[in-house]
Amino acid sequence: MDTQLALNSFVKETGGYVASQLEACTRCGMCAEACHFYQATGNAEYAPVWKIELLKRAYEQRFTLVGKAKLALGIDKPIRDDDLIHFSKIIYEACTLCNKCSMVCPMGIQLGPLIHEVRTGFSEARVVPDDLAAAVKKQLDEGSPLGVTDSVYDERMEWVADEWEVELPMDVKGADTLVVFSSIEVMKFPENIAAIAKILNTAGEKWTLSKKGREVVNFGFFEGNTELTKLFLKRIFDAAKELGVKKIVVTECGHAYDAMRWTSYNIMEVPAGIEITHIVGLIGEYLHAGKIKLKEGSFNDGTITFHDACKIQRRGGHIQEPREILNILAPKSFKEMSPNREESICCGGGGGVIAIKEADPVRYAAFELKIDQINKVGAKTVVMSCSNCRLQYTDCVQHFNLDWKVAGLSQMVADALVE
Ligand code: SF4
Ligand code: SF4
Repeated sequence: MDTQLALNSFVKETGGYVASQLEACTRCGMCAEACHFYQATGNAEYAPVWKIELLKRAYEQRFTLVGKAKLALGIDKPIRDDDLIHFSKIIYEACTLCNKCSMVCPMGIQLGPLIHEVRTGFSEARVVPDDLAAAVKKQLDEGSPLGVTDSVYDERMEWVADEWEVELPMDVKGADTLVVFSSIEVMKFPENIAAIAKILNTAGEKWTLSKKGREVVNFGFFEGNTELTKLFLKRIFDAAKELGVKKIVVTECGHAYDAMRWTSYNIMEVPAGIEITHIVGLIGEYLHAGKIKLKEGSFNDGTITFHDACKIQRRGGHIQEPREILNILAPKSFKEMSPNREESICCGGGGGVIAIKEADPVRYAAFELKIDQINKVGAKTVVMSCSNCRLQYTDCVQHFNLDWKVAGLSQMVADALVE
């Protein structure tokens, strides 16, 4: 660990915009109640404003007269190794970077991105939880945090094509669309791959997979490691350029969508002329254009509700498409949990949290909020468009012994296709 590297990073990141955000905070504490980790535990250290405390202290002590004076008089302490170790647990284990806190801040402070800056400092100082660091290393060395090496990818895709009898075009030059799955889908929800293939094939999309650009999950992004975030994104952009596609479709993975759709443009050169979209947006387009049709009322298994993912619905704005789909499939039994849409409560497993074993207690505590929400609407099926959320739900259904079914939206669409 090198605390000075974290401090350098905090100071480097504190340009005019970040400084103005830090200065704007009135310490009103309103963001606390918006955070599912704070709500679930009442732990004051999980308040979003506390999660940017080190960034604020580094900024004040380096750039403000008051901060320098407090330091000189011993009122404030310099940031030490112990602080980094202590805050690392909070920042990585009790924050999913869901950014709901920003929505309630009266000063408009973008807390999620600021907390991400804190992770960047911790990444540079190497104060990263072991489990997360191991997953990042696996993605660097093997191409995937879940062990989807070249040969595993080939085997899985061959098996999916056989098992579900779908065509999976691979490395097709001149295809219009590159579809990039996350290794969560490849290893845990392979039916998603078959479902999405079925939808694309039915819509007549000229699409392809890529062996080179085969992993859309970005554990560099979770860690806050900018160089690795870029490297993992570059693998996909290079594949897209080589294949000559016009569009990249991110499948059911929220953070991957954030990294690729927005963050990439701020940290690296993104090849021009390639649209980046999410599978939910594409399904919505197909429906509107009449390229696919769904059997009305085909879902008849009791009340169903939709979980809005932080990065796909709140950040990505794909709020209407899932509702349009569910109002076709389950017009009488689709019920909204509350709060919903952009105000939805995070599942508690995003931002890399689910990959950190030591975060399990707080992750399960946060999920109890979802249990309350879903029980209130009496749903026995919950559907979502993010595989990371789905992994959290699937794990928590087992952990809490719930009698719910957890479904992926693309799967439901594929099952209801009028062919
Ligand atoms: S809501 Fe905004 S202004 Fe209030 S404490 Fe949180 S970050 Fe600061
Ligand atoms: S980004 Fe989400 S998890 Fe992190 S502090 Fe804000 S509300 Fe909590």
